[in-house]
Amino acid sequence: MTEFDTFTEADDLGPAKVVHLTERRTGLRAVVVIDNVAAGPAIGGTRMAPDMTTRVCARLARAMTLKNAMAGLRHGGAKSGIVADPGMPAADKERLIRAFAAAVGDLTDYIPGPDMGTDEAAMAVVFDEIGRAVGLPAALGGLPLDELGATGFGVAEGAEVAAGMLGIDLNGARVVVQGYGAVGRHAARFLGARGSVLVAASDSRGGVVDPSGLDLETLDGIKSRGGSVADYPGESMVVERDEVFTVDCDLLIPAAGPDAIRADNVDDVKARLVLQGANIPATLDAETRLHQRGIVSVPDFVINAGGVICGAVEYAHGTRTQAFEAIAESVRGNVEEVLARSRETGRTPREVALDMAHIRVRRAMETRRWT
Ligand code: NAD
Repeated sequence: MTEFDTFTEADDLGPAKVVHLTERRTGLRAVVVIDNVAAGPAIGGTRMAPDMTTRVCARLARAMTLKNAMAGLRHGGAKSGIVADPGMPAADKERLIRAFAAAVGDLTDYIPGPDMGTDEAAMAVVFDEIGRAVGLPAALGGLPLDELGATGFGVAEGAEVAAGMLGIDLNGARVVVQGYGAVGRHAARFLGARGSVLVAASDSRGGVVDPSGLDLETLDGIKSRGGSVADYPGESMVVERDEVFTVDCDLLIPAAGPDAIRADNVDDVKARLVLQGANIPATLDAETRLHQRGIVSVPDFVINAGGVICGAVEYAHGTRTQAFEAIAESVRGNVEEVLARSRETGRTPREVALDMAHIRVRRAMETRRWT
């Protein structure tokens, strides 16, 4: 048994299914965790990463159960992971995604969506194989959530509510984005439209800092040509990628991988508000520490639900306008309720949000024959 295969944790919510997939000819190695389907077929992203493990997949699947419940969707939570380098040649990637799709065809209570290392094109391949996926390209009648910036939009909507409650003016607020990808760059863009200034950004290859503000179009141009934010021209300071956590700012948006904020760097965080664009970007201990330090951290499954809400609206054949209205309504309402309850009780935002989401999942479970 390797770390990839090991999985021992389960509770009354799930997981309902943990399925390992291997295919010798294509070299496919993947895992699907369908955590809970009480509210309906589970939606969750397909991540492609060389270091994907079953344990991480299960944690992400649970986060989806809670996120979908929090957002009031008619969907349970799941996640899948393909163990591979997403930067592989396009033809090899398509072959692998095709093999993955064929292998999940029978898991009809799982609806794949895009995640780190996969995109709308990958979902088009999945849809072509099994007729089931969200986050499809517009040509297939999809609402391309990464192109539209659905999650980043929700992060900015939630940021507006949280900032208002904390007395932070978004106009002129300094923003740091760790992981300038689909979520991070759109969050920066929607916050930029409210007058906020991006003072630091990072990606897997490095970081860049400029207290006077980074130009988003320049950054997007560099990224679209396959470059790194560290290639940003001019007077800005190129830094190690994790140094962005130490930058003085108002809003910090971790939007890359799990456990980026941990015991060894949590005390370096200088932000007033952390918006968890990524899934599980902070360890639980680090989140508690942020709370003790008076830094409000809005949990992943509350603030980054925009993508899955967009996916659910697409699945129900809704429009882009309906998706964005649903995101704004859901994320804004949840951020307000979570932060208000946290303030009243002194508990961390995650603790109160977990209570709210668990109640919603259990209510859905009570309606099912098998409970
Ligand atoms: P993406 O692949 O488009 O972007 C990820 C970015 O993070 C890339 O720029 C990459 O270079 C960078 N990165 C990777 N490792 C890094 C590191 N160690 N330090 C700094 N940067 C690093 O992915 P995405 O779709 O933006 O997703 C980012 C996170 O948000 C993931 O945790 C994902 O699960 C979560 N998420 C995404 C969506 C969505 O709609 N795309 C929705 C909810 C949650």
